[in-house]
Amino acid sequence: MVSPPAFPHFLSIDLHTHSTFSDGVLAPVELVQRAAARGVRVLALTDHDATDGLDEALRAARACGIDLVPGVEISVTWNEQTLHILGLGIGHRDAGLQQGLAGLRREREARALQIAARLDAAGIPGSHAGATRHAGKAIALGRSHFARFLVQQRHVRNADDAFRLYLGAGRPAYVAPAWPCVETAVAWIHGASGQAVLAHPDRYRLSPRMMRSLFMDFRQAGGDGIEVNAEGRFPSSTQVRLALEFGFALSSGSDFHAPGKNVPDLGEVTAIPEGMPAIHLRLRAAAA
Ligand code: AMP
Ligand code: MN
Ligand code: MN
Ligand code: MN
Repeated sequence: MVSPPAFPHFLSIDLHTHSTFSDGVLAPVELVQRAAARGVRVLALTDHDATDGLDEALRAARACGIDLVPGVEISVTWNEQTLHILGLGIGHRDAGLQQGLAGLRREREARALQIAARLDAAGIPGSHAGATRHAGKAIALGRSHFARFLVQQRHVRNADDAFRLYLGAGRPAYVAPAWPCVETAVAWIHGASGQAVLAHPDRYRLSPRMMRSLFMDFRQAGGDGIEVNAEGRFPSSTQVRLALEFGFALSSGSDFHAPGKNVPDLGEVTAIPEGMPAIHLRLRAAAA
């Protein structure tokens, strides 16, 4: 029997990445070129609640000879908690999807004003303008942009502390967003002919019972797959077993935002063992 690797290892398929059109630091063309240089052959760009980087990424991928999967990472609220659902292989011009994403970005803008007001109250002025400076081409602000502002202004030492002290759930500048529900996000993705994948379930801090309940709801909503290796951690076999028990395909991606220490680079994802239902095989079948 072959035992699974203890660390993420290099794979030529990476189905979860970010660009400057959300909270990544590389422009789509830079992202695609870096992926190609690292030997990635199939790359999904999955910016938060936006698809505006996809046309540039598709052009760059054609030039580099790699396969670009149009994607998006949609914020949803489940059980009063924020979860992320990836749409992979989407027809990103779909009107229903775009209308939904536009609503999410309005929610982001409203939330950003509230975050800034809370930071004001905590004695940190100017954060909305500051975050906007860090937002690049992103058309809606996220907490990562505020985190970069807080680090740059030396209110905190690093992004982790920015979330731990200010932006994370329950902290002074946290604003609970009203994202759409799981069913709605899956319906937008399916309406645009994409596959709906629950992103990084291991990051939601759910008890085994709640994880099962989430998988149940995700299946009920029509979800297609589960991401098994967020942040390069090898998925616990229980998580994989649960995904297979529910009939989900498996997906893997680096969730790359920026080059850095202790974070997976492009293509640093756990391979899905041969013979298991992999979402990229379904994407290939759908594209054929
Ligand atoms: P938002 O979607 O605007 O609420 O921001 C969530 C994003 O913040 C995630 O996609 C991550 O990129 C980033 N993030 C969340 N937690 C942390 C953390 N502890 N340290 C650094 N970045 C984080
Ligand atoms: Mn992010
Ligand atoms: Mn995410
Ligand atoms: Mn992500």
